[in-house]
Amino acid sequence: MFSPTSMIKYKKTNKKGTTMCKETISTFELLNKFPDHTTARKFIEQKRWGNGVQCPVCQSSKITSRRGHRESQFFCRQCSKDFSVRTGTVFACSQIPLLFKMSVALHGKTAQESTVLIDTTVQEKNITYPTDAKLAIKIINRLNKLAKHHAIKQRRTYVKEVKNCRLAIRHFRHVKKRAKAKKALTRLRTIANKLIRELQRKLPTHLVFETYQKDFLFYQQVLAQKPKDKNKIYSLHEPNVYVLAKGKDHKQYEYGNKVSIVSTKDSNIIVGVVSHDKNIHDSKTLECAIAHGNSNRDRQKPIKQAVCDRGYVGAKEVLGAQIILPKKALKKDNRYQRDKKRKLCKRRAAIEPIIGHLKSDFRLSRNLLKGNIGDEINVLMAACPFINLRNF
Ligand SMILES: [Zn+2]
Repeated sequence: MFSPTSMIKYKKTNKKGTTMCKETISTFELLNKFPDHTTARKFIEQKRWGNGVQCPVCQSSKITSRRGHRESQFFCRQCSKDFSVRTGTVFACSQIPLLFKMSVALHGKTAQESTVLIDTTVQEKNITYPTDAKLAIKIINRLNKLAKHHAIKQRRTYVKEVKNCRLAIRHFRHVKKRAKAKKALTRLRTIANKLIRELQRKLPTHLVFETYQKDFLFYQQVLAQKPKDKNKIYSLHEPNVYVLAKGKDHKQYEYGNKVSIVSTKDSNIIVGVVSHDKNIHDSKTLECAIAHGNSNRDRQKPIKQAVCDRGYVGAKEVLGAQIILPKKALKKDNRYQRDKKRKLCKRRAAIEPIIGHLKSDFRLSRNLLKGNIGDEINVLMAACPFINLRNF
């Protein structure tokens, strides 16, 4: 199998049999050897396939090479899939997970501790505090903009009335304003639905069914949602965001996504981060968190122990790792075992400041990147410099 290390010549020198890098090339030589992308690509193609290109999916050699601007692409005639030299290697797709893996590998043996600490936190999305009125007004504005874009003459745009409704909804929690606010909100929803119907009538048919049908259905779903509904939409441009109530005094609800952090017990190196696109219970997050931790470490040294907080109640053993929670001592445990567990649980608190630093110094507190992929990228990019810049 192709691996990036084969680009550098490795030699066994130590008596112990460990590999050490003896022959390397300087940056100057490297730039001379690879002046542009094409030479680098050709070099890797030569290294990987030699003269016969093979499909990474079905290992067939019935390959068509693309030409022109798609020169680096290949097409397999047997399984009809497109691929390039990077497909199936660590260079494929985004390199951010690879960067993370490398920054863990920088620490060598210290990152291979068998005991890890795991905790979850919230990564807040960059959205306004969601209220029904705000969402309704945003929908109205979008619909008016759409009508203007297609030069459709509307009966009314309701600009003035929306303004008055907005004023009526101010201080909607106050007892004396409550009835008025409720009425105004209903009116806003009615206006939005009216505008949708008008656009559906007046827009050219192909536009309604091909381009905007999805948007209109989405808007109607947002307008119809009730306070106690499940899987609500909190933002028009970030529909994947969910609400997390962690029971904090100063921040009752947070809007974003849940993130698991896995760090080693003594050296405090983050070996795994996972962003969850659904609001699942903490104990259900352990499997992917530990899997990600294992994937970034030495394959021979999987995680053996994971220390978590009481939120993870119910988990006992995940992927061969024993889960340790702070709880009443078991009767079967003797003094020594009890003390050992207690000590581990004391050490668990070390992950809290890690999360704090990730949030305040490495931009985990607010995620500006779009969509579920944005969540993943943001948490990886926060963790990479955190483990890289530490004094190792
Ligand atoms: Zn194939």
